Amino acid sequence: MLRAQYLDRDALDRRTLAGLRTALGHARDRVAAYTDDRYDVGVPRDLADFARLPMLRKADVLAAGEDRFRDPAFTRGRVTVYTTSGTSGQILEAWHDPANYAHDRACNIRRFAAAGGRYRPWSRLVHFKPFPLETAWYQRLGIFRRSVVHSALPVRTRVAQLQQERPHALIGYPVMLRDLLRGMRPEELVTLRRTLRAVFTESELLTPEVRRQLTEGFGVPVFNEYSAYELMHIAYDCAEGQLHVAEDRVHVEIVDAGGAPVPDGTEGHVVVTGWRERAMPLLRYWLGDRATRHADRCGCGRTFARLDLTKGRADDYVVLPDGERIYAGTFIGMAISTPGVAECMVRQDPAGNITVWLVPDGRAGRGFDDLARAARAWLHDSAGRPFDLDVRQAETLELTKGGKGRFVVSEFRR
Ligand SMILES: [Zn+2]
Repeated sequence: MLRAQYLDRDALDRRTLAGLRTALGHARDRVAAYTDDRYDVGVPRDLADFARLPMLRKADVLAAGEDRFRDPAFTRGRVTVYTTSGTSGQILEAWHDPANYAHDRACNIRRFAAAGGRYRPWSRLVHFKPFPLETAWYQRLGIFRRSVVHSALPVRTRVAQLQQERPHALIGYPVMLRDLLRGMRPEELVTLRRTLRAVFTESELLTPEVRRQLTEGFGVPVFNEYSAYELMHIAYDCAEGQLHVAEDRVHVEIVDAGGAPVPDGTEGHVVVTGWRERAMPLLRYWLGDRATRHADRCGCGRTFARLDLTKGRADDYVVLPDGERIYAGTFIGMAISTPGVAECMVRQDPAGNITVWLVPDGRAGRGFDDLARAARAWLHDSAGRPFDLDVRQAETLELTKGGKGRFVVSEFRR
């Protein structure tokens, strides 16, 4: 895996094509959704040929039924389940087979290694998360240890937990780290900088401006990771601040509105195929982010293509009466951890009233009052204090013209 990052372009493209052919062959044989005629294209001769397949969006997968995208040989107990709600508020359950999940975990280690020695297996890491994490086997062995701090806790609680750890590294969504930075006093930053060596960001867009704020604020380099629950690890930063596509697991295309690939250096929509996935293959999956791609060798020596992300999934938030923010990630955490929520949307009106709209999943056999109580309790627990919110039932959620709903919208301005 470490060598793959330095293979020449021809070798990388050959491996990608072989991976895509195997993934398509498996999907055609085993997965109901791909028996559709539009996938009856034979064996793709090259990457351009593969790009003639239809694109998939989350809404398409949900409309067709998630089960139609799953290989019946895999049962829920045999896979790693990642539930995504994202900024659209629609909930999709992505299944990852054991081999692909293991590869993702190894990529996570490669990602930390790319930080050029600023992070070691025994480093103390503080992870800001909107919801609890599973502990991986290697963390139980005492390496790649992390302590989790819930991002919705009051900022003084977060800072106290952070200081107790004397961390070498921080990891979190860019918006959560920026929020932390705003809440820290100058003398607390001085103490933190004594041990801190690196900041890792994850899951969403890191703009050059936010990267600059975090680098200057924390006084250490920032390393981003680009991932999605449907695909897991997609790309990672090198010490040159370049975001490299993990071409040994995903094929990233940048496409125009019609789904046709655009040349390198041209901005377009990000479409990803995780060609190792067998449990629930999503071929040419549209992620909703925009980027440009560059395939020339990076200053760090890696040959994996690079992405410049230009527009991403939203970092929306609501503001509590104490002036602190709760980001979309926390509501996503509630939606995916509360059985019986099919869709979720959050609105804050100009007066500051927060309404959480839930579309119940009838299959869970749970009354709405019970569901609302569970959602409210999850949010209050995660925030470490109660706050006023109205939980209401919806039949469906409003979508914008492009078919994409905004998950969290706040009209409240202090
Ligand atoms: Zn590089």
